[in-house]
Amino acid sequence: MNTQVILKNGREHSVEHRHPWIFSGAVDRTEGPVETGTTVEVRSSRGVLLGYGSYSPNSQIRVRMLEFGGRQEPDAEYVKSLTAAAISRRCLPDGSSPIAAAGRGTRLAHGESDALPGVVVDCYDGWCVTQFSSAGAERWKTAIAEALMENGAKGVYDRSDVDSRKREGLEEHRGNLAGAEPPETIEITENGMRFLVDVRNGHKTGFYLDQREARALVREHAAGRHALNCFSYTGGFGLACAAGGAKSVINLDLSRPALDLAERNFALTFPGGCPCETGFECADVFKQLRLYRDQGRKFGLIVLDPPKFADTKSQLMRAARGYKDINLLAMKLLEPGGILATFSCSGAMSAEFFDTICREAAFDAKRPFQIIGRTRQAADHPVSLDFPEGLYLKGTLLRAM
Ligand code: SAH
Repeated sequence: MNTQVILKNGREHSVEHRHPWIFSGAVDRTEGPVETGTTVEVRSSRGVLLGYGSYSPNSQIRVRMLEFGGRQEPDAEYVKSLTAAAISRRCLPDGSSPIAAAGRGTRLAHGESDALPGVVVDCYDGWCVTQFSSAGAERWKTAIAEALMENGAKGVYDRSDVDSRKREGLEEHRGNLAGAEPPETIEITENGMRFLVDVRNGHKTGFYLDQREARALVREHAAGRHALNCFSYTGGFGLACAAGGAKSVINLDLSRPALDLAERNFALTFPGGCPCETGFECADVFKQLRLYRDQGRKFGLIVLDPPKFADTKSQLMRAARGYKDINLLAMKLLEPGGILATFSCSGAMSAEFFDTICREAAFDAKRPFQIIGRTRQAADHPVSLDFPEGLYLKGTLLRAM
């Protein structure tokens, strides 16, 4: 018999409304053996079957729902069908698979919002890279890798070396799961820009596909400007500025390997030489912005795309100080009419709170700004209507008046 998780009386509402997380505080008791990642029946206090989920004994998020309603008990075939469905939602307008599209980078599965809790799959030119961040996701990884191979993946490489696995009682893992080993770098094309992706050593799965639409927007505003791309990683926004007609672009990052790849991406995109001046500076943004301030440097366009400063709500206030600091510094470095493209990828920080931080930074910088654009994570990183927590990436384009 299946293990059962019986909810406290009055705590059924969120599951009934298809929210995928059941917190430990909502659980009255469990009946049967509970192992990391096992599939459990979720029942109301009166014993009504509400659906099936994956059990995480070590996590505050005790159960992640895999099925609502209790009509279908999840097995490997079911998880494979969920994976196939997520892929088919990303089909190109002509109906072809994103996996088969040469040089394309696509997120194929985006966790809870794709009904696959804890599962991320990115695909680069047919090479799939997975990230399993919960016990249930880990339990189904073989089925998911099989589904990817059956749908035409060249290979499946796992990058489950994420901190959040600790909370789930899982070890970090990286290595090949299925098919051929990926090459050292994989080339993808985004709106005519060419990028090399290092899926073994790069951040996350190798590339920030989530900023695709934001890069396109920044590109529209770059013409004639001196641009500063802070937290550049492999040069994404910097290339967008160059492609958009910027006069100069400085890419700034702490990581030397990321900047080396950025230089190669510039060379690849502009084989005849970049049409604008470029710089690749290995430095701490917090320090470098102060240095530019002391030097009296000015820029027409600044991009601030920092890493996640807050993982949890408890880190939020410290994160807020970090965001405010860099935004204030950047605002002061802008020429009149200059544009700041500022982002937060901390899921724990709401869009409203991020606006408040920007407003306070502008107040301290003693400059009025207009909001001329808003961005979100790209459409292949959808947000389930029932799971607002799925929205993590927010961006604002501000113009100095
Ligand atoms: N904008 C990028 C993604 C940025 S990821 C894109 O579109 O692809 C965040 C980057 O910030 C990483 O490359 C990391 O190396 C860098 N980083 C983190 N802390 C930093 C700091 N204090 N100063 C400079 N770079 C930093």
